[in-house]
Amino acid sequence: MMYGEEVVERILFTENDIKEVCAKLGKQIYEDYKERNPILICTLKGSFMFFAELVKNIGADFSVEYIKASSYIGAHTSGEVKLSGFFTNFEVKNRDILIVEDIVDTGLTIQKLTKFLLEKGATSVEVVTMLNKKVRRIVDVTPKYVGFEIPDLFVIGYGLDYNEKYRNIPFIGIMNPKFIEK
Ligand code: 5GP
Repeated sequence: MMYGEEVVERILFTENDIKEVCAKLGKQIYEDYKERNPILICTLKGSFMFFAELVKNIGADFSVEYIKASSYIGAHTSGEVKLSGFFTNFEVKNRDILIVEDIVDTGLTIQKLTKFLLEKGATSVEVVTMLNKKVRRIVDVTPKYVGFEIPDLFVIGYGLDYNEKYRNIPFIGIMNPKFIEK
């Protein structure tokens, strides 16, 4: 049996689907940023796999930084976003920033991170997200680049966890609600 199979109700996007979307997004990002030497920020922990696949498709100069942002406990958002880690101390003044997200849900993480970066003097801040749960948005934020739109379902795999598990599933699947603690 494949790892994670017992908790995945349905596969939404295969590894191949994700690779194709990364190739498409990478091309658009390359066109928009090739002369701008941006900073690409990988939001930990969920974005690591998408980030790795995406950057292979951007054939231009950029630097890489990591920020840890957390709000979810189990399958529910706490509504409070924490930015932490040793990595928030890099120079962003007069730089173009592209935040790389696994999923935009309520929008609170992106809102907080964008504000933080603009206050530190960034020239521009945009977002690329693998998944967009637009129906769950509670603040007005719009990612510039979107891999896939998804409905209001809790998904795991390709970096996305449930209580720190299942990040290593090589596709994105809907988690069977019977395994989600209420
Ligand atoms: P937001 O601040 O937009 O509400 O939440 C973004 C973060 O919530 C994501 O980076 C991710 O960690 C978590 N999240 C939101 N929806 C899901 C989901 O369906 N599955 C998982 N595993 N995490 C999610």
